[in-house]
Order: sequence, then structure tokens, then C-alpha cells
Amino acid sequence: MRAPARPTAPARRAPGGRPPRRAPRRPRAAAETAPEYDAVIVGAGMGGLTVASQLAAAGKRAVVLESYTIPGGSAGHFARGGYVFDVGASMMFGLGDKGTTNLITRALAAVGESVDTVPDPTQIHYHLPRSPAHPVGLEVKVWRDYGAFVDELASKFPAERAGIEKFYGECWKVFDSLNALDLKSLEEPRYLLGGVWSRGLCGVGVEVESVVTVEKDCLGTIMHSCFFSKFACPLPHPLSPTTEFAKHPLACLTLASFLTTNAGDVARRHIKDEELLHFIDIECFCWSTVLAADTPMINAGMVFCDRHYGGINYPVGGTGVLAEKLAAGAVKRGATIEYGARATAIVTDPATGRATGVRTADGRLFRGKAVVSNATRWDTFQRLLPAASMPDAERQFLARYTKAPSFLSLHMGVDAGVLPPGTECHHIVVDDWASMEAARGTLFVSIPTLLDPSLAPAGRHVVHAFTPDWVDAWAGLDPPAYAAAKEAAADAVVDRLEALFPGIRAGTRVREVGTPRTHRRFLNRADGTYGPIPSRTPAGMLGMPMNTTAVPGLYCVGDSTFPGQGVNAVVFSGFGCAHRLLADAGDRPTIPGLDGAFRAALDFARGSV
Ligand SMILES: Cc1cc2nc3c(=O)[nH]c(=O)nc-3n(C[C@H](O)[C@H](O)[C@H](O)COP(=O)(O)OP(=O)(O)OC[C@H]3O[C@@H](n4cnc5c(N)ncnc54)[C@H](O)[C@@H]3O)c2cc1C
Repeated sequence: MRAPARPTAPARRAPGGRPPRRAPRRPRAAAETAPEYDAVIVGAGMGGLTVASQLAAAGKRAVVLESYTIPGGSAGHFARGGYVFDVGASMMFGLGDKGTTNLITRALAAVGESVDTVPDPTQIHYHLPRSPAHPVGLEVKVWRDYGAFVDELASKFPAERAGIEKFYGECWKVFDSLNALDLKSLEEPRYLLGGVWSRGLCGVGVEVESVVTVEKDCLGTIMHSCFFSKFACPLPHPLSPTTEFAKHPLACLTLASFLTTNAGDVARRHIKDEELLHFIDIECFCWSTVLAADTPMINAGMVFCDRHYGGINYPVGGTGVLAEKLAAGAVKRGATIEYGARATAIVTDPATGRATGVRTADGRLFRGKAVVSNATRWDTFQRLLPAASMPDAERQFLARYTKAPSFLSLHMGVDAGVLPPGTECHHIVVDDWASMEAARGTLFVSIPTLLDPSLAPAGRHVVHAFTPDWVDAWAGLDPPAYAAAKEAAADAVVDRLEALFPGIRAGTRVREVGTPRTHRRFLNRADGTYGPIPSRTPAGMLGMPMNTTAVPGLYCVGDSTFPGQGVNAVVFSGFGCAHRLLADAGDRPTIPGLDGAFRAALDFARGSV
């Protein structure tokens, strides 16, 4: 999709909810200088915390600077009036106990932590527009059991059963391939291609890492000969048995074949019914905030299958428990986390341009061998670094991607009686397809107390309802007008909730309203954005930046990097970032001779899409 047009008129006004209070800042000496760290990480979102915990597990000294009082960012939670409210994320992927895509489980385990979870029997209950075929609306539940989901969808579109099976079958090819690999940095050639490169490309010597590598490479060379003589591939020696390519050649080739493909292309190949294609659109939109035509197949494969494989599992105690445990595990292994520490500048060496540290609002300088930013791309390259000296690669990013809208969020505590028996945890409501992408169009609802009742007092539920919204709609309002506008907008959301849960207005005991301004302020995200979305049809995953940047020593992590938004996705980016950083620091084997060329090739590929 192109980004929906931003409304310019201010929203309606009314009294009401309070955002969480900002932490009192601790007084500090103005020019206090911290000792040197291996990495200074800006932000304790799930991306930044994954890097910190991976580095700590590797024995590195990391410090995390978080401006807020709690970890987790959009995946944090806050307690109010006896309720625990998830800030954003409640539908949790990556907490399974098998395969390799259960990245949250694996990140926690790396620092000796784990969480109890409650399996969700359905991912989403969709409430979709009326149509001639579905005169009371299209109601679909995405069951944890894949067969049950396909049967349910096919029962709504009987003529399309084969197309449904083929489309999701293609997604399984992607997922099975991803789930075979040890997911690390895709911009680290040795991990992908292997130690055999260390002996040279086609026999041109570069350097020998170790006897062990050479021995393994002999096998790799044999495998290479067999495999590539069969498939006549021109690549030289990518098959060391130490590498992902050697271990899983078919998985790698399958993923490569989908790298530039979007889900919409695959859907249209197999499905003809326009209403069903709209369904595939909302399946993508609900996590990518773009339609299927603009959603990379690699992401779609991960999301559409992991919900059936590892499943959707809710962490007992609330989503924020994940960040709390990751932070605790990192600290136990030597990491430092500074809360109430707002980074104001990434410091670079004037002579080399290398990132050497981070300055905080209270004047401290944290010096590091590397700097990692968990802030958005816009905040990193336009606020923490001078916008005037933005690298070309970032200008290209700005041309390829734009900001997704933020959200209008209602956090409610309601009487249990307003939820009909059999209510599912997660709902998506679209009243008409034309408004799916519009501001305040699609409505998302999560009721995590259906899985973990401990989040609310007895006899009550937590309801989080949110809908995309632009910060511009909230500009220029004085405090009373802003408060009034929040309540009016929230009332309109409650009107829609009444259709699902009759009596919810009267049964509401607590209501907190957050706007794009709240997201901007408390999550430190430019315009409160959900993250980057393509400004033109992307070539699959190719355009998305990875973790290294054009500023030496500076890495990015989180939803502004591959593979994008979602908690499990940003944890993936954290694994990749830590791996690349450790390789650059000499703590993981790499191939210096090839590194630069490989990154240049990736940059070229990104720049040309
Ligand atoms: C309403 C909503 C619902 C969502 N629902 C789901 C869901 O159900 N499932 C799912 O998987 N995903 C969901 N997501 C998406 C998911 O929460 C995010 O993609 C993910 O948590 C982003 O993690 P991150 O680490 O990249 O960034 P963030 O969570 O934004 O964390 C960045 C952190 O860096 C800090 N920071 C930034 N700048 C500075 C600075 N200058 N100084 C100090 N600290 C700084 C911020 O305070 C923040 O804590 C949802 C998001 C929202 C907003």
C-alpha cells in the first residue's frame, strides 16, 4: 500500500485519560564520564535487550540507555489500578519450544531465563465486511490447528479450497526453510557461505583460519563438487559443513527464490475470488500495516505458519515479563541498564567518522567500542546524529520507506460479564474494505485476561483496543482540547466495540487513552510510528536495511531493520546485530577479505530496488 493520506484537520476534543507519568530524572554530575564499554546500546526495547543479552552471554560489557522507567518499549507493560496493561504487543509469536524460529524462547535461554506461557487456541477472530456471499459479515477464526483453519476458511470459500491450500502451502515452504536454519546475521558471509572462503575464492588464497576449519572444508569442497556439478551453479565453494548453506542447501535456495517476492503475487497466482484476496490483505495488514502486494513473502511465510507451528502463546504476567526477564538475565551476566537515561547524541570521532559513544540528556558520555541504536531509523539519523550529515544509504532508505501511522489506544478494565462465552483473545474488525488502510479504519482488540486472569482483579478483564492513527491529527491542541479530543475519539472506538461486546460501555470500570502523541513521547518514536513501510512496491525483503550502517561502529537494531515489525522479528534483528557486532569485534570467525565486498553487494542490491 501507499501510506494512507495524513489527515490535516485536528481531531475532536473531550476530557480524559492520563498517559503513564515520566520517571523523575536523577540528578547527575554534568560531565560524568562512563568507563569504556564494548557496546553502548540506545533503547531497552526487545531489539536492544536482545543485543545486550547476547553480548553479555558472550562475555562482553554492554550498557543499555533507556529513557523510560521500564524495559520493553512497545512490548512493555504498565500497572494501573489493579490491572496490568500491555503497552502494545499482546499476540506473541516466537515462544514455542521447537524449531529455530522460537527466537524469544532462545533469547531468554541464552541468559538462563524462561517464561511460563498460556497457549492461545486461536490467533485471531476476524470480523470482516458484509458481502453477497456473507450477508451478515465474514467471520473467520484462525485456529492454532492448521487443518482446522484451512477447513474454516474453505467453508467460507468452497470454490477456492485448492487455491487456499496452495497459497498457504507456499508460505509453509518459506517457513520450513527458515525453521531449518540457525537464524543469525544475513550480512555475515562466513555464517552464510562458509570457512572455505577463508582458503580463497576458486583457489585464490586469502588466509587460513585453523586446521579444524581446513579439515571441515575438505568435506565442504567434496559436497560442493557433488552438489554443484549436479545443479551446475556458478558459485565457488560455498559449502563448508560449518555453514548454513552447507547444512541446509535446499532451505537456503528456497529462501533465495522467495527473497524478492511479495505475498500478494503468490496469492493472486492461486486465488481468484476478490473477497478472499481481501482476506489475504487483512492477514498481511494486521502485522505489516501494508497490503499483501507490498508484504514480503519471507515475512508472510514466517507469520502465517509459526502461528500453527510454535503457536501463539501469552507470557504469564503480561507481555512486559519478556523484557523484564531478558533485562534481568543480561544484568546477571554483567550488562548495565540505565533507566531514565535519554540519549541525545551519538558521538563520532571527527577524524574517522566512527561512532565512539553516546551522550545523555544529563550530560554523561558513555564511551563504547561500538554503538547500537534501538531507536527508529528516523530518530537515529535525524535526531541522534546530525540530519545534515546523513549517509547516502540512509537517504535511499528514506526514498524507499515511509513511516507507518501510529495508534489510538484504549486500555480498559471491564466487567467480565460483557464478554460473551467463547470470546477469543484477539479480534480484528474491518467495517468495509475501503477503510481497511484508513486512519481509525481497522480495529484491533486484545483481551489477554482470557489467557492470564492474573492481569485484572477478580471478575474483570483487560481490553486493549487500538486503531492506526496519524500524529498530525493531534497537532496544535492545547491540553484541555487534547484531553477532550482523546475522549471523543475513544468514545467512537467504544461504539464499535459495542457491536462485538454489547454492554461494554456501561461495564467499563477503568479507561486509559493513548494517542500518537503518547506513543511519540513515551516510546521515543518519530511521530509515534509503528515502523517503516515501503513507499513503493518493494522487491520482497531486498530493500530492508540490516544491522550495519554507513557510520563505522554504528549498528541499528529493532523494527527499522530486517525483518521489520513484531516482537519475534525484532528479536531476530537482535540476534543478527549481536552476531555481526561480535564478528566485527573478532569474537566470531569471519572472513575479512570477503566482508567488505559482501556488504557492498548487499548495499548495491538494496540501492537498486
Ligand atoms: C499498539 C501496538 C500493538 C502491537 N501488537 C503487537 C503484537 O500483538 N505482536 C507483536 O509481535 N508485535 C506487536 N507490535 C509491534 C511490536 O511491539 C514492535 O514491533 C516491537 O516491540 C518493537 O521493538 P523495538 O525494540 O524495535 O522498538 P521499541 O519497542 O520502540 O523500543 C525502543 C526503545 O528504545 C527507547 N529509546 C528510543 N530512543 C531513545 C533515546 N534517545 N534514549 C533512550 N532510549 C530511547 C524507547 O524508549 C524504547 O523503550 C505492536 C506495536 C504496537 C505499537
